[in-house]
Formats: sequence, C-alpha cells, structure tokens
Amino acid sequence: MKKIQMVDLFSQYQKIKKDVDAGIQEVLDTTTFIKGGKVNNFQAHLESYLGVKHVIPVGNGTDALQIALMGLGLKRGDEVITPTFTFIATAEVVALLGLTPVVVDVDFETFNIDIEAVKKAITPKTKAIVPVHLFGQNANMEAILQLAKEHHLFVVEDACQSMGSEYTFSDGKTVKSGCMGDIGCTSFFPSKNLGCYGDGGAIFTNNDELAAKMSAIANHGMVVRYHHDMIGINSRLDSIQAAVLDAKLPHLNDYITARQKAAAFYNQAFAGCEKIITPATDRNTTHAYHQYTIKLVNVDREKMRQALADKGIPAMIYYPVPLHLQKAYQDPRYKKGDFPVAEELAACVLSLPMHTELDDEQLIYITDNILAIIKNC
Ligand SMILES: *Cc1c(COP(=O)(O)O)cnc(C)c1O
Repeated sequence: MKKIQMVDLFSQYQKIKKDVDAGIQEVLDTTTFIKGGKVNNFQAHLESYLGVKHVIPVGNGTDALQIALMGLGLKRGDEVITPTFTFIATAEVVALLGLTPVVVDVDFETFNIDIEAVKKAITPKTKAIVPVHLFGQNANMEAILQLAKEHHLFVVEDACQSMGSEYTFSDGKTVKSGCMGDIGCTSFFPSKNLGCYGDGGAIFTNNDELAAKMSAIANHGMVVRYHHDMIGINSRLDSIQAAVLDAKLPHLNDYITARQKAAAFYNQAFAGCEKIITPATDRNTTHAYHQYTIKLVNVDREKMRQALADKGIPAMIYYPVPLHLQKAYQDPRYKKGDFPVAEELAACVLSLPMHTELDDEQLIYITDNILAIIKNC
C-alpha cells in the first residue's frame, strides 16, 4: 500500500508530469518570469472556467483578501463580519488594515457562518461580510447576499478552500464559488483544490471598476507606469506558478470528483458509528471536500490521533483555536464562551486524509482502523 498522507501531491504530479514540465520549461526558455503569456493564458482560462468577468492573479490567498478589502475603500474603524471558526488569514487582513473584525459564530452542521449571528452583529459601522466557504462547501450565500442588500454591505467570499464548487440559488441559477459576492478570493497554496508548486492566489469579480482598482492595488497602485494613483502593494502570481496552474486547471473537475468519491467512501464506512458525525452536506451547494472533517462524540481526540499515527494514518485538527481565543486577537469585546459552537467544534473536529489520489486499499485501511481504534478512545 502507498504511504498514507493528508495530501499526496507527488502521485498527482506523476500523472500530469509531462504537461507541467513542458509548461515550466517554456517559462525557462522564454525567461519571462513575471507577468507575460503564461499568466495571461491562465487568467483567461480561469475566467472562462468560473464564468466570471475578471480574474486578477496575485501572490497568495491572504494578499487576495487584503487587496479585496483595500479595493472596497474601507476606512479605519469600519466593521467587517467574519466567522470565528476559520483560518487566521481571514481576520488577519481585516486587522492589518486597521478595520475592526467582528467575529460571529458558525453553524454546527456545516461549519459555515451562522446567518442569525450575522444579523445580530450588523451595526451602522458594518461595511462588509466575509463568509468563508469552509472545507470546500459554500456558506448560505442566498441569505448572506440578501442581508448584504438590505444593509448595503459588501460581500467578499473567502473561497480559498472551495475552488471549483458550485452554489445553486432558489431561482435555479448555479454559480461557481467565489463568483457570487462583490469579490471572491482564492488561494493556490499547493494543498488547495487547485494548487500550484509554491504560493499563488487570485481575486474574482464581475465589477469592472473594482477589477481595475484591485489590479492597480496589486501592482503598487500603478495605473500608468510609474504613476501611482493609490497606495498599493506588490502581489503577483509568477509565470512558473501560472504554467503549473494552467496544466492543472483542466483536471480540476476530476480532482473534485475524486475527493467526493473518497468522501462518499468515508461517509458510508462511518454511517453506523455513533462516535462519528460525518460532514453534513447542504442542498444548495456542492462540496469540494478540501477537507473531510468529522466531529467526534465522546472520544479522547488526542488518544485517537496517536493511535492512528501508530498505524501510519495522519489526521489533523482544523482548527484547534477559534479566532476570538487566539493570543494575537485578544479583544475586550470577546471572551471564552461567547461563541459556543465554534468552541465546541474546535474541541471535537478531526480532519482525515483527503486528496485526489486516495485509492480503495488506502480508504479501507483508514476506515477499518478508525472504526477499530475509536472503540477504545
Ligand atoms: C489557505 C487559506 C487562506 C490563505 O491562503 P494563502 O495562499 O496561504 O495566503 C485564507 N483563507 C482560508 C480559509 C484558507 O484556507
């Protein structure tokens, strides 16, 4: 049996090596390392895949979020609502820009932002909502967009984990993740659904004006060369990463199908186990299973993790500490107990190996061992 890993990028690379290597070689041959054809090609291909008007390639997903908030022209003290159960980057950029992060609880079933909590958190200072499509499943965008419309708020989707998944609105319209709000942000970190071989990210929008402004911000606020109209940053996708992404994009749908198949295997194997709650799927959204995350019921998680590790099965905790309990984000507005769902999730979640290359032999080994081990944990 192949070694079990959280993510198996090597096996995936072996299958597309020819295309990836040829793309990288082309960049080396032309020595166009920044901007240039590869980046433009990938940008156009991704726009067409997503059905979105503008893709702006940037340096990473965190930059994408930062540039999005800068593009909206938010000012010091403006409030931005974000879930407390997420990766730190979502709140980090809010704080870095001097905006006020307002964290809210999440839904126990889907791990995504709780709409009722968002409603309660809206004040006259609220300017934007940043929902995170956690683990690959879209947040309740219909409700979020409705709320945003009522209160004149911007919506910036953190689609770093949901690339390639889709959301269907009640009118039957299906839209790709990251393309529903004013702006969507994604990451091409190697382990993401569409990962490059270094750092990368992108911003999506259908708004021409925002697109022009965010492109300029990503390039030192420069519109005409060496004329800087606004304060920007330096954030770009390099050509080698664009070449890798362009070789991988045609496989993205197959990659998601492979993840969904592995998830279905897990779901079925764990169906009768009272100590495991398998991930709930929301009917309006597909699930890209960036992570396959179970909730443990009355289980000693550390004991279980150790026992799994002894069998060569890695498992990770995404995320062990909600934002409002992070040392760097201590805030007199928040204390332990304020967001009980996020705190409960942080204590009981466990993410299992999930990637495009899991085979039946590995899945049987993983699930058999989990079912045996969990009895004693
Ligand atoms: C990965 C990730 C990011 C940041 O992306 P980087 O490319 O690592 O900067 C932001 N938000 C979420 C939810 C992520 O999973």
